[in-house]
Amino acid sequence: MCFAVPKVTYLLRTTPTWLCPEEISYFDDTLKDTTEIILNVSLSVDQWTQASLPVRHGGLGLRRAGDVGLPAFLASAHGVADLVSRILHSHRDSVTIPFVRDALAIWSDRFPTASLPEVPQVQRAWDDAGARITLSRLFSAASGVDLARLRSVSKVEAGAWLQALPSPHLGTLLDSDSMRVAVAFRLGCDVCIPHKCICGSTVEANGHHALSCRRCAGRFPRHHALNDIVRRALVSANIPCVLEPPGLCRTDGKRPDGLTLVPWQKGKCLLWDATCVSTFAASHLSRTVQAAGAAAESAALLKRAKYSALEAKYYFVPLAFETTGCWGSEAIAFIRELGLKLRERTSDARAGSYLVQRLSIAIQRGNAASLMGTFAPVQSEP
Ligand SMILES: [Zn+2]
Repeated sequence: MCFAVPKVTYLLRTTPTWLCPEEISYFDDTLKDTTEIILNVSLSVDQWTQASLPVRHGGLGLRRAGDVGLPAFLASAHGVADLVSRILHSHRDSVTIPFVRDALAIWSDRFPTASLPEVPQVQRAWDDAGARITLSRLFSAASGVDLARLRSVSKVEAGAWLQALPSPHLGTLLDSDSMRVAVAFRLGCDVCIPHKCICGSTVEANGHHALSCRRCAGRFPRHHALNDIVRRALVSANIPCVLEPPGLCRTDGKRPDGLTLVPWQKGKCLLWDATCVSTFAASHLSRTVQAAGAAAESAALLKRAKYSALEAKYYFVPLAFETTGCWGSEAIAFIRELGLKLRERTSDARAGSYLVQRLSIAIQRGNAASLMGTFAPVQSEP
């Protein structure tokens, strides 16, 4: 949140930065180098462009001064116009803030298809136009797994781990390696040298095999973590529940992940089952390149079919997540509702966001563990 550009926000809002492109690109090049050092990843031009987008547009939120300078200046100039005219005792239309005309001309030149913001005092209004165009350029240049990745990471839930306060006390601190892998999967960077997985398949440099390998570690701790987060949230919302309730079986004989002990809706208790599927798995890719969350939606349908026998008596919710961090629609709706209950119970307006962040972090930790699980255990020298 505080890395780089926020430290120079005042300068960007008050300076015609487009007049000093060399200094701005020096700043941004330094930002890229520093990011690569801190995260231990190598970024291509497109990956760095994606990283520099706001989190809500699929980036890492590491904004470049070259991108933010113009929106910051335009928003500030429009924001102060009233005050300046009052100080000068002149009519607003007769007051000209220096460089504003130049800034508007450059903005129109950079984004010829974008219309002027309705609320020009808001920096995000200017900024979003540029971010959207940058993202659509990335989209049009991408295909296959890259397209599926961009679609997925542009969803709000997929970026929640980037909004979390990195606190060991809250359990929201990602260790360096998990952070590296999470960033690399989000931006499509290489995560490893191609090697043979413990299952015998080849793991390419992008590491995607790890996300769908049935033998890899990482899946089970993640599955447990996701369910435990839901259980804790329910308990915090004063809804008693149990994991793996005995005596309940789905059509394949396995037990569901959790059950509330009091009714959730229409007098029925909530039964849930969680799963996290790979956005990039060959079986899902044809759908995930078309629509974000398509793998989660089809996993949710499969879950629902397995619980058809229990649905008359229980209110069933499939909690389907994808490794890129986007969720199925039923999971989104359920977690939103649970977040509201948490807010009511705890009087903490951010309780719902924290819940989403914890789930998001659990998914990313699982990805890192899955990747590390593809390597054969190191044999010590005799
Ligand atoms: Zn494998």
